[in-house]
Amino acid sequence: MTASRTRAQSAAVIGELREWQRALRDQFPILTGHPQLSYLDSAATAQKPQAVLDAIQTYLTTTNANAGRGTYPWANTTTALVEQTRDRVKGFLDDPAPERSAVHFTSGATEGLRTIARDWLPQLLADGDEIVVPLADHQANISPWLEARQQLARQGVHVRVLPMPYQRASGDYDHTALADLAGPRTRFVAATHVHHVYGGDMNLHRIRRAVGPHAVICLDAAQSVGHLPVSAAQLDVDFLVFSGHKAMALPGSGAVWARQARGPAFTPGGWPGTPNTVGIASLAAALDWLEAAGTDRIEQWTVALAARLTDGLRHLDAYEILGCRTSLAAGSPVQQRQGIVTFRHRDIDSGDLGFILFSHGFMVRSDSHCQGEAGERDGSVRVSLHVYTSVEEVDRLLSVLTSLG
Ligand code: PMP
Repeated sequence: MTASRTRAQSAAVIGELREWQRALRDQFPILTGHPQLSYLDSAATAQKPQAVLDAIQTYLTTTNANAGRGTYPWANTTTALVEQTRDRVKGFLDDPAPERSAVHFTSGATEGLRTIARDWLPQLLADGDEIVVPLADHQANISPWLEARQQLARQGVHVRVLPMPYQRASGDYDHTALADLAGPRTRFVAATHVHHVYGGDMNLHRIRRAVGPHAVICLDAAQSVGHLPVSAAQLDVDFLVFSGHKAMALPGSGAVWARQARGPAFTPGGWPGTPNTVGIASLAAALDWLEAAGTDRIEQWTVALAARLTDGLRHLDAYEILGCRTSLAAGSPVQQRQGIVTFRHRDIDSGDLGFILFSHGFMVRSDSHCQGEAGERDGSVRVSLHVYTSVEEVDRLLSVLTSLG
């Protein structure tokens, strides 16, 4: 994909979706209430539309009760809300066999991944088996698997960790190296859908091809759910894990979706206690909102803005962009950058750059982004977009970055 085609494609998408995007942005009170500020940290957490705020208020002022316990109407309504939201999650994830799959509510992606590692993975693995761990992805998708291995070793079951290979230039997984690495004892692969620093879609179809049909794939979808269509019917993965707060619901909500087709059944252990009912109510409302907006159009918008930002940055010698530099837009056969662009300035420390950008009203993330031990050593500035990010914000950011060049 040439730069000029990327630019033309991105401009066409922005032109087509501009009015639609403006109407959606107006539904975020925190943004309309602070017109002098620009929130560019949606990979950390997403802002909430009025519909989600209303759903929280309605739930707490009309039917708040515990779930799965009482038998009076508010309790029954809350129990039904939890069960209906389970089905809602399956529908949102385009589940091809909802009668067989399971949805387990968690406090977020971290707890979801940890639950799989603690309660399910040990049942899958035998002495001599191998697991693939993505050591340059988010720490939340690394430490649970390493801890599970330690736990198994204490019981005399020794599991080999195969570090997921990467292509440093693009920030993508190295699918060829992975195919060479994976063998018949490779039972489990932890992977990420969209990388939280490099911003790339990590090409799940190629991972499945590389590891073969039998390995279990657990997908950390923290940066994809709510940002693009995530289809369990199309992705041949066994687990999808996400955080509600990154998908416009409340913090403390999230889910594990389990296909229940490979390996033992997923039955999280222990007494679950009271579920986060208000978080679950917010999640149902957020998924409704995202579906009505259209995750395909949300993806088109954020990909187009990211392409515009990356294209602008590429012309500024002072900046180094992390991850893929060339194939940036929809339709790329290599890798598609989603709405995350991470970069460094040649002379300005990234922490300082974060402060400078805030002095211009931009809220970005500047540190090493919870990346695992194989990730970037030096800090960087991450700009992460959502459907409420406007093209004017991206252009203003580019002009400030240009003035610092
Ligand atoms: N995985 C990825 C890819 C992430 O970006 C994050 C959050 N930054 C997490 C997992 C952890 O999510 P949470 O903190 O909501 O549990």
